[in-house]
Amino acid sequence: MEKIDIKSLSRQELERALEARGAETYRLAQIWRWLYKDGGAKSFDVMTDLPESLRRKLKEGFHITYPVMLDAKRSTIDGTTKYLLKLEDASTIETVFLPEANRNTVCLSTQVGCKFACSFCASAPFGFVRHLKTSEIVDEVLFVKGHNPSASITNIVFMGIGEPFDNYDNVIKSIRVLNDPDAFNIGARKITVSTCGLIPGIRRFAEEGLQVELSVSLHSADDKVRSHLVPINKRYPLRQLIAACREYTDRTNRVITFEYVLIKGANCSREDALKLARLLKGLKCKVNTIIYNKIRAKGFAEPSKEDVKVFLATLKESGVHVTNRKSRGEDIDAGCGQLRISRL
Ligand code: SAH
Repeated sequence: MEKIDIKSLSRQELERALEARGAETYRLAQIWRWLYKDGGAKSFDVMTDLPESLRRKLKEGFHITYPVMLDAKRSTIDGTTKYLLKLEDASTIETVFLPEANRNTVCLSTQVGCKFACSFCASAPFGFVRHLKTSEIVDEVLFVKGHNPSASITNIVFMGIGEPFDNYDNVIKSIRVLNDPDAFNIGARKITVSTCGLIPGIRRFAEEGLQVELSVSLHSADDKVRSHLVPINKRYPLRQLIAACREYTDRTNRVITFEYVLIKGANCSREDALKLARLLKGLKCKVNTIIYNKIRAKGFAEPSKEDVKVFLATLKESGVHVTNRKSRGEDIDAGCGQLRISRL
């Protein structure tokens, strides 16, 4: 019989699985702590406060996943570290650790590769391989914790490789573990999920009752331009997307952040800013711009400082709440959109 991937179980599922094996109820809390404290237990042998007989049973019934580090690159500019991790089937993913004075963020991948082929993103050209399991998503955080024992992880962003809402169930399950006070204890408001605009995912997310932040990668207020940059726009065009966002904010009373990558000549003229302000009128939201990070894709460049200034000023004048995100880890290709599934 195939062993159960223990870190892909919710707390309730593990409770039931332990019950079925005759373990006393209080063992759940012990095992749960071993799995998620510090860098996480890599085997049942280290769970020394469990009786030998239970450890044997656990070993027979369950499996503990753990990634292998193939490479790590640390930015000399800001200390951002990008890890290349090998999963048990030899697939590789990238995970980024972003230390800052007042917070430490982990940027998580959710899939091996990506289906959505945004034209300016490095994760696109290699196509989609598979979804990450819940265990593999939480393992990214455990791995970073294990490698940075003195830093406590305060924030999580689902902004690495892949589309979180295309791997919906595993992402939500991982969020519940990350949020669990007895596991990672990361506050829901410190967790951000970023989507390229999958409307069914946004609708489901509104019903989860989670206080997690939602970001939508918008990048243009014009259907033609957005379809070129973010091809899934052909399936979920702007009008429907914004309507779903409005339903989301009405239902949750939460603010949506729209990600907007500024690309020279494509989406950041004064007219683009006015169009964006019109599109977002009355919506409970903010806009987070980021200057395009160079990847080896053809035909894109970063805008001039003047263009950026005018774009931001126009949005502000139009009453849009806007912040400009500083990209991090660019010297090691760890910036937004620079992650890929090939070797570093
Ligand atoms: N699939 C999800 C999450 C991964 S991408 C999504 O699309 O939101 C995380 C963010 O990086 C997205 O907003 C994405 O559009 C942006 N991004 C991709 N390539 C980029 C690049 N070259 N420069 C700056 N941001 C980029």
